[in-house]
Amino acid sequence: MSDNGKVIRKCIICGKDHYETMFTFTYDYLTKIYKNVSPEYVEAIGWSPDTRSSIVRCLKCKSIYVRDVFVGYERTKADMPIEKPSYNPNVSWSNWAERVWILNCLLFLAQNISCKKTLNNKKGINFLDFGSGSGDYSNLARAMGIKDVYALDPYTVAQKTYYEKNNFPGIVFSRDKDEIFKHAPFDLVVSSSVVEHLFDPVNELVSIYDNMSKGGVFYVNNPFMDIDREINQLLNAKTIYKKDNISHYHPGHINYLKPKQFKCLLKKIGFEVLSFNVKPPVPLTKYAIKSILRRNVVQFAKTAFNLLGVPYSRHAFIVRKK
Ligand SMILES: [Zn+2]
Repeated sequence: MSDNGKVIRKCIICGKDHYETMFTFTYDYLTKIYKNVSPEYVEAIGWSPDTRSSIVRCLKCKSIYVRDVFVGYERTKADMPIEKPSYNPNVSWSNWAERVWILNCLLFLAQNISCKKTLNNKKGINFLDFGSGSGDYSNLARAMGIKDVYALDPYTVAQKTYYEKNNFPGIVFSRDKDEIFKHAPFDLVVSSSVVEHLFDPVNELVSIYDNMSKGGVFYVNNPFMDIDREINQLLNAKTIYKKDNISHYHPGHINYLKPKQFKCLLKKIGFEVLSFNVKPPVPLTKYAIKSILRRNVVQFAKTAFNLLGVPYSRHAFIVRKK
Protein backbone atom coordinates (compact mmCIF):
# COMPACT_ATOMS: atom_id res chain seq x y z
CA MET A 1 0.00 0.00 0.00
CA SER A 2 3.22 2.14 0.02
CA ASP A 3 2.45 5.55 1.47
CA ASN A 4 -1.29 5.50 0.99
CA GLY A 5 -3.09 6.40 4.15
CA LYS A 6 -0.12 8.23 5.57
CA VAL A 7 -0.99 11.52 7.21
CA ILE A 8 1.43 14.20 8.35
CA ARG A 9 0.62 15.71 11.73
CA LYS A 10 1.85 19.01 13.05
CA CYS A 11 2.77 19.12 16.75
CA ILE A 12 -0.10 17.54 18.69
CA ILE A 13 0.20 20.18 21.41
CA CYS A 14 1.31 23.50 19.90
CA GLY A 15 0.47 22.96 16.23
CA LYS A 16 3.93 23.99 14.91
CA ASP A 17 5.85 21.88 12.43
CA HIS A 18 9.43 22.44 13.66
CA TYR A 19 10.82 19.12 14.78
CA GLU A 20 13.81 16.89 15.20
CA THR A 21 13.52 13.24 14.26
CA MET A 22 14.28 10.95 17.17
CA PHE A 23 13.62 7.50 15.77
CA THR A 24 12.41 6.08 12.48
CA PHE A 25 10.47 2.83 12.20
CA THR A 26 11.22 0.85 9.06
CA TYR A 27 9.63 -2.27 7.58
CA ASP A 28 12.78 -4.23 8.38
CA TYR A 29 12.81 -3.01 11.96
CA LEU A 30 9.21 -4.06 12.48
CA THR A 31 9.47 -7.44 10.82
CA LYS A 32 12.93 -8.50 12.01
CA ILE A 33 13.38 -7.02 15.48
CA TYR A 34 9.89 -7.21 16.95
CA LYS A 35 9.30 -10.81 17.98
CA ASN A 36 5.62 -10.34 18.73
CA VAL A 37 4.75 -8.58 15.49
CA SER A 38 3.73 -10.78 12.59
CA PRO A 39 4.39 -9.83 8.94
CA GLU A 40 0.59 -10.04 8.47
CA TYR A 41 0.12 -7.32 11.07
CA VAL A 42 2.72 -5.12 9.41
CA GLU A 43 0.92 -5.53 6.12
CA ALA A 44 -2.47 -4.96 7.72
CA ILE A 45 -1.31 -1.60 9.06
CA GLY A 46 -0.44 -0.64 5.51
CA TRP A 47 3.32 -0.99 5.43
CA SER A 48 5.46 -1.98 2.48
CA PRO A 49 9.25 -2.50 2.49
CA ASP A 50 9.91 1.19 1.74
CA THR A 51 7.60 2.63 4.39
CA ARG A 52 9.00 4.86 7.12
CA SER A 53 7.36 6.46 10.14
CA SER A 54 9.17 8.69 12.63
CA ILE A 55 8.92 9.67 16.25
CA VAL A 56 9.81 13.37 16.46
CA ARG A 57 10.27 16.02 19.12
CA CYS A 58 8.66 19.43 18.63
CA LEU A 59 11.41 22.03 18.81
CA LYS A 60 9.02 24.59 20.20
CA CYS A 61 7.15 22.81 23.02
CA LYS A 62 9.22 19.58 23.28
CA SER A 63 6.21 17.30 22.83
CA ILE A 64 7.05 13.88 21.43
CA TYR A 65 4.81 12.33 18.81
CA VAL A 66 4.73 10.43 15.53
CA ARG A 67 4.66 12.96 12.70
CA ASP A 68 3.78 10.67 9.80
CA VAL A 69 1.13 8.22 10.87
CA PHE A 70 -1.00 5.60 9.20
CA VAL A 71 -4.65 6.06 9.92
CA GLY A 72 -5.64 3.13 7.75
CA TYR A 73 -5.22 0.33 10.22
CA GLU A 74 -7.57 1.56 12.95
CA ARG A 75 -10.15 2.48 10.33
CA THR A 76 -9.92 -0.87 8.59
CA LYS A 77 -10.57 -2.55 11.91
CA ALA A 78 -13.77 -0.55 12.24
CA ASP A 79 -14.86 -1.52 8.73
CA MET A 80 -14.53 -5.21 9.41
CA PRO A 81 -17.96 -6.77 9.54
CA ILE A 82 -16.77 -9.41 11.95
CA GLU A 83 -18.71 -10.28 15.03
CA LYS A 84 -16.30 -12.85 16.36
CA PRO A 85 -16.17 -13.13 20.11
CA SER A 86 -12.76 -11.71 20.88
CA TYR A 87 -13.39 -12.14 24.59
CA ASN A 88 -10.14 -12.80 26.35
CA PRO A 89 -10.62 -14.88 29.48
CA ASN A 90 -6.89 -14.78 30.26
CA VAL A 91 -6.99 -11.39 31.95
CA SER A 92 -5.28 -11.74 35.31
CA TRP A 93 -7.18 -11.18 38.54
CA SER A 94 -4.96 -8.23 39.38
CA ASN A 95 -6.04 -6.45 36.17
CA TRP A 96 -9.68 -6.93 37.11
CA ALA A 97 -9.03 -5.91 40.70
CA GLU A 98 -7.31 -2.79 39.42
CA ARG A 99 -10.31 -1.87 37.27
CA VAL A 100 -12.74 -2.43 40.12
CA TRP A 101 -10.47 -0.34 42.34
CA ILE A 102 -10.41 2.50 39.83
CA LEU A 103 -14.21 2.50 39.57
CA ASN A 104 -14.46 2.34 43.37
CA CYS A 105 -12.23 5.43 43.59
CA LEU A 106 -14.35 7.25 41.01
CA LEU A 107 -17.63 6.39 42.72
CA PHE A 108 -16.24 7.41 46.08
CA LEU A 109 -14.96 10.71 44.73
CA ALA A 110 -18.21 11.39 42.90
CA GLN A 111 -20.10 11.06 46.15
CA ASN A 112 -17.69 13.22 48.08
CA ILE A 113 -16.97 16.23 45.97
CA SER A 114 -19.03 18.90 44.33
CA CYS A 115 -20.36 16.44 41.77
CA LYS A 116 -22.72 15.43 44.60
CA LYS A 117 -24.76 18.55 44.07
CA THR A 118 -25.28 17.71 40.43
CA LEU A 119 -26.07 14.11 41.27
CA ASN A 120 -28.74 15.08 43.80
CA ASN A 121 -30.71 16.80 41.07
CA LYS A 122 -30.68 13.81 38.81
CA LYS A 123 -31.68 10.22 38.80
CA GLY A 124 -28.18 8.76 38.77
CA ILE A 125 -24.64 8.74 37.51
CA ASN A 126 -23.92 9.08 33.82
CA PHE A 127 -20.88 6.96 33.00
CA LEU A 128 -18.76 7.22 29.85
CA ASP A 129 -16.25 4.58 28.75
CA PHE A 130 -14.20 6.50 26.19
CA GLY A 131 -12.33 4.10 23.88
CA SER A 132 -14.24 1.20 25.34
CA GLY A 133 -12.78 -1.67 23.28
CA SER A 134 -14.67 -4.80 24.20
CA GLY A 135 -16.25 -2.96 27.14
CA ASP A 136 -14.45 -4.16 30.29
CA TYR A 137 -15.00 -0.95 32.23
CA SER A 138 -18.59 -0.56 31.02
CA ASN A 139 -19.31 -4.07 32.18
CA LEU A 140 -17.90 -3.45 35.62
CA ALA A 141 -19.67 -0.11 35.92
CA ARG A 142 -23.00 -1.80 35.20
CA ALA A 143 -22.18 -4.63 37.58
CA MET A 144 -21.33 -2.06 40.26
CA GLY A 145 -24.77 -0.56 39.97
CA ILE A 146 -24.41 2.34 37.57
CA LYS A 147 -27.50 2.41 35.40
CA ASP A 148 -26.55 4.82 32.63
CA VAL A 149 -23.42 3.45 30.99
CA TYR A 150 -22.23 4.67 27.59
CA ALA A 151 -19.42 2.99 25.66
CA LEU A 152 -17.79 4.84 22.79
CA ASP A 153 -15.19 3.38 20.47
CA PRO A 154 -15.02 4.29 16.79
CA TYR A 155 -12.33 1.71 15.99
CA THR A 156 -12.98 -1.39 18.05
CA VAL A 157 -13.59 -4.71 16.38
CA ALA A 158 -16.27 -5.36 19.01
CA GLN A 159 -19.67 -4.40 17.71
CA LYS A 160 -23.15 -3.92 19.03
CA THR A 161 -24.04 -7.58 18.83
CA TYR A 162 -20.79 -8.42 20.59
CA TYR A 163 -21.81 -6.10 23.42
CA GLU A 164 -25.28 -7.56 23.56
CA LYS A 165 -23.94 -11.09 23.64
CA ASN A 166 -20.99 -10.78 25.99
CA ASN A 167 -21.53 -7.77 28.18
CA PHE A 168 -23.78 -6.78 31.04
CA PRO A 169 -27.19 -5.69 29.73
CA GLY A 170 -28.04 -2.04 29.37
CA ILE A 171 -24.75 -0.64 28.06
CA VAL A 172 -25.33 1.87 25.28
CA PHE A 173 -22.52 1.24 22.79
CA SER A 174 -21.75 3.19 19.65
CA ARG A 175 -18.91 3.98 17.30
CA ASP A 176 -20.49 7.34 16.66
CA LYS A 177 -19.38 10.13 18.97
CA ASP A 178 -22.47 12.27 18.35
CA GLU A 179 -24.73 9.39 19.20
CA ILE A 180 -23.03 8.94 22.57
CA PHE A 181 -22.38 12.61 23.34
CA LYS A 182 -26.05 13.50 23.02
CA HIS A 183 -26.37 11.76 26.42
CA ALA A 184 -23.90 14.23 28.01
CA PRO A 185 -23.03 15.54 30.54
CA PHE A 186 -21.15 12.60 32.01
CA ASP A 187 -20.34 12.43 35.72
CA LEU A 188 -17.71 9.72 35.49
CA VAL A 189 -15.41 9.04 32.57
CA VAL A 190 -12.80 6.32 32.08
CA SER A 191 -10.29 6.29 29.25
CA SER A 192 -7.73 3.57 29.67
CA SER A 193 -4.90 2.82 27.19
CA VAL A 194 -6.46 5.20 24.69
CA VAL A 195 -4.67 8.56 24.54
CA GLU A 196 -1.46 7.13 23.07
CA HIS A 197 -3.49 5.95 20.04
CA LEU A 198 -5.46 9.12 19.30
CA PHE A 199 -4.83 11.07 16.11
CA ASP A 200 -5.84 14.35 17.73
CA PRO A 201 -5.43 13.80 21.47
CA VAL A 202 -5.89 17.42 22.55
CA ASN A 203 -9.25 17.85 20.85
CA GLU A 204 -10.46 14.46 22.06
CA LEU A 205 -9.59 15.38 25.66
CA VAL A 206 -11.23 18.78 25.25
CA SER A 207 -14.37 17.09 23.95
CA ILE A 208 -14.41 14.87 27.05
CA TYR A 209 -14.04 17.95 29.26
CA ASP A 210 -16.80 19.80 27.43
CA ASN A 211 -19.17 16.87 27.83
CA MET A 212 -18.59 16.30 31.56
CA SER A 213 -20.70 17.65 34.36
CA LYS A 214 -19.17 20.21 36.70
CA GLY A 215 -17.37 18.31 39.47
CA GLY A 216 -17.32 15.15 37.34
CA VAL A 217 -14.34 12.80 37.66
CA PHE A 218 -12.22 11.34 34.89
CA TYR A 219 -9.70 8.48 35.03
CA VAL A 220 -7.10 8.58 32.29
CA ASN A 221 -3.76 6.86 31.86
CA ASN A 222 -0.80 7.20 29.59
CA PRO A 223 2.08 4.75 29.14
CA PHE A 224 5.38 6.20 30.22
CA MET A 225 7.80 6.14 27.35
CA ASP A 226 10.98 8.05 28.14
CA ILE A 227 12.53 8.08 24.72
CA ASP A 228 15.48 10.20 25.85
CA ARG A 229 16.44 7.46 28.26
CA GLU A 230 15.54 4.57 25.97
CA ILE A 231 16.64 5.82 22.57
CA ASN A 232 19.93 3.89 22.56
CA GLN A 233 18.14 0.69 23.51
CA LEU A 234 15.69 1.33 20.68
CA LEU A 235 18.42 2.09 18.14
CA ASN A 236 20.59 -0.87 19.11
CA ALA A 237 17.90 -3.47 19.74
CA LYS A 238 18.51 -6.84 18.13
CA THR A 239 15.22 -8.27 19.36
CA ILE A 240 12.17 -6.77 21.07
CA TYR A 241 9.76 -8.96 22.99
CA LYS A 242 6.45 -7.85 24.44
CA LYS A 243 7.83 -8.03 27.98
CA ASP A 244 10.56 -5.49 27.13
CA ASN A 245 10.01 -1.89 28.17
CA ILE A 246 10.77 -0.61 24.70
CA SER A 247 7.97 -2.72 23.21
CA HIS A 248 5.80 0.35 24.02
CA TYR A 249 7.38 1.91 20.94
CA HIS A 250 5.44 0.63 17.96
CA PRO A 251 3.41 2.15 15.12
CA GLY A 252 0.12 1.66 17.02
CA HIS A 253 1.32 4.26 19.53
CA ILE A 254 1.50 7.71 18.05
CA ASN A 255 1.68 10.01 21.08
CA TYR A 256 4.63 9.81 23.43
CA LEU A 257 3.87 12.56 25.94
CA LYS A 258 5.83 12.31 29.17
CA PRO A 259 3.87 12.42 32.45
CA LYS A 260 4.77 16.05 33.12
CA GLN A 261 3.67 17.09 29.61
CA PHE A 262 0.50 15.05 29.96
CA LYS A 263 -0.28 16.55 33.36
CA CYS A 264 0.28 20.09 31.99
CA LEU A 265 -2.08 19.33 29.13
CA LEU A 266 -4.80 18.10 31.51
CA LYS A 267 -4.43 21.26 33.60
CA LYS A 268 -4.42 23.50 30.55
CA ILE A 269 -7.71 21.95 29.40
CA GLY A 270 -9.16 22.90 32.80
CA PHE A 271 -8.96 19.70 34.84
CA GLU A 272 -7.87 19.63 38.45
CA VAL A 273 -5.41 16.75 38.90
CA LEU A 274 -6.11 14.63 41.99
CA SER A 275 -3.46 12.37 43.40
CA PHE A 276 -4.24 8.70 43.80
CA ASN A 277 -2.67 5.27 43.58
CA VAL A 278 -3.67 2.55 41.17
CA LYS A 279 -2.99 -0.54 43.27
CA PRO A 280 -6.09 -2.16 44.75
CA PRO A 281 -5.83 -3.45 48.30
CA VAL A 282 -5.31 -7.13 49.06
CA PRO A 283 -7.41 -8.87 51.76
CA LEU A 284 -5.46 -9.79 54.87
CA THR A 285 -5.73 -13.52 55.46
CA LYS A 286 -3.10 -16.11 56.24
CA TYR A 287 -3.13 -16.99 52.54
CA ALA A 288 -2.25 -13.50 51.42
CA ILE A 289 0.33 -12.18 53.86
CA LYS A 290 3.09 -12.03 51.25
CA SER A 291 0.73 -10.38 48.75
CA ILE A 292 -0.42 -7.78 51.22
CA LEU A 293 3.14 -6.84 52.12
CA ARG A 294 4.25 -6.68 48.52
CA ARG A 295 1.18 -4.79 47.42
CA ASN A 296 1.41 -2.28 50.25
CA VAL A 297 4.99 -1.52 49.30
CA VAL A 298 4.00 -1.02 45.66
CA GLN A 299 0.96 1.02 46.68
CA PHE A 300 3.09 3.23 48.88
CA ALA A 301 5.72 3.65 46.18
CA LYS A 302 3.18 4.49 43.48
CA THR A 303 1.37 6.95 45.72
CA ALA A 304 4.70 8.63 46.44
CA PHE A 305 5.57 8.61 42.71
CA ASN A 306 2.22 10.19 41.93
CA LEU A 307 2.67 12.86 44.58
CA LEU A 308 6.19 13.67 43.43
CA GLY A 309 5.35 13.40 39.75
CA VAL A 310 7.93 10.64 39.28
CA PRO A 311 7.00 8.52 36.27
CA TYR A 312 6.50 4.76 36.25
CA SER A 313 5.41 2.33 33.57
CA ARG A 314 1.83 3.52 33.07
CA HIS A 315 1.12 6.88 34.57
CA ALA A 316 -2.47 7.23 35.72
CA PHE A 317 -4.45 10.28 36.70
CA ILE A 318 -7.81 10.96 38.25
CA VAL A 319 -8.82 14.47 37.32
CA ARG A 320 -11.89 16.52 38.07
CA LYS A 321 -13.77 19.10 36.09
CA LYS A 322 -13.80 22.19 38.29
ZN1 LIG B 1 4.88 21.69 19.88
